[in-house]
Amino acid sequence: MKIALFNNSTLTVIFLLWLISCSDPDKEPNGYTTIEKWQDGKTAAVSLTYDDGSANQFNVALLIMNRLELPATFFINTGNISGSEYQRKFIGRPIDQIIKETETIPTNADNLFERASAIRMLGNYEIREHHTRAGSLWESGRKEEAFREIDKGYELIRADKSLQVMYQPQSGDLSWDDINNYASQGHEFASHTISHPRLSVMDEANLLYELEKSKEDILNNMGPEHTFSVECPYGTEDERVMEYMYERYEASRNRMPEPYLEELNRGSREQPGSFDKEYVQWQRGALSDTSLDQMKAWIDTCNVHNNIWLVLVFHGVDGVGWEAIPGDTLDAYFQYIQSSQDKIWVATFKDVSKYISERMHAEVSFAREQDQISIQLIHDLDPSLYDLPLTLRTYIPSGWKTVMCSQGESSKKLTPEKDEKGFFIRYQAQPNKDEIILANAE
Ligand SMILES: [Zn+2]
Repeated sequence: MKIALFNNSTLTVIFLLWLISCSDPDKEPNGYTTIEKWQDGKTAAVSLTYDDGSANQFNVALLIMNRLELPATFFINTGNISGSEYQRKFIGRPIDQIIKETETIPTNADNLFERASAIRMLGNYEIREHHTRAGSLWESGRKEEAFREIDKGYELIRADKSLQVMYQPQSGDLSWDDINNYASQGHEFASHTISHPRLSVMDEANLLYELEKSKEDILNNMGPEHTFSVECPYGTEDERVMEYMYERYEASRNRMPEPYLEELNRGSREQPGSFDKEYVQWQRGALSDTSLDQMKAWIDTCNVHNNIWLVLVFHGVDGVGWEAIPGDTLDAYFQYIQSSQDKIWVATFKDVSKYISERMHAEVSFAREQDQISIQLIHDLDPSLYDLPLTLRTYIPSGWKTVMCSQGESSKKLTPEKDEKGFFIRYQAQPNKDEIILANAE
């Protein structure tokens, strides 16, 4: 039948293209193209993320990851980086006016956010912890207790003038040059706000300052590649914070609202294998008492499912930072991850987010001609942000022993593989760019 069509020159233009993207692949596999669930057809994805930018994340963990060629994502507090334009501050009325008011008006829903934002600028560490605890109480619905927590803080401030001195921000040892150097080694940097507040108890001006100005410092010092992701401190999922955050960042480790993604946060005891959504983001926080065997078991779990994105969360390393994990343990664990790379795609938080979003928003269609197959890959996301290549699988005629795969300027010779449907090739393609052309290279 094909021969007859090709011999009829008047119908050539119309019938050379067989647009059969809806056809049954079991009957007509040639040209049938799907987007692999994970990059390079792997079984799962793993992102290794670090919070707070403590020193040994860079002095110890990053060196191990570089040696093993594994990429990391570092969520950093930009106020700690020397050379940052923006530091912790309070935007609002004069603070002494706020202190004075606390003498006569108890904290309530109308003044909590202002007071909780301002108290971070006062006193010593113990005083500032009233902000942190109030945030925790507020988020767990214990509102009255949150008000009392702030009242207690201001009571101490009023009683001791020395506590009315303003907090002086200090930047750490890390510079933007250091960070750009680490980024050039393949790692992602992303916002963890300027100064690690409980955003849920901040008023709009102060909350937005932390979200927007940390992004601005990253943008100005590193460029747009590192403004994609965010982690709001303390893993908050406060609704109000999430609304502000979604408008300013593409991907958040706190929570992603996509209907095709189930998210199990660090505290969840649910098993990732019991969800049938297209993707399950499974966050695991490695703490100082987490055994190496336990950490390896998370990788093993990924291997027996096909929809898990394991997001590992690390804080301290080798004695420095919260819940520090020995460097030797990390080294052994990262070697285990590296040796699993035939099945597991290890990528930054940003890249896995992009892959999933692009795939779920993409359409792939193909046209079959006598001796070649052309494929279109398009998605409806902002192409300046969502630019990661996707892995396609295309079934080809069984007679093709070697396949030339080209898109725009680039081309590659590929050897077909075989499954129960027939012969196929697997290749990376750029969405929203030129057609992909596959041809028999014999
Ligand atoms: Zn943190």
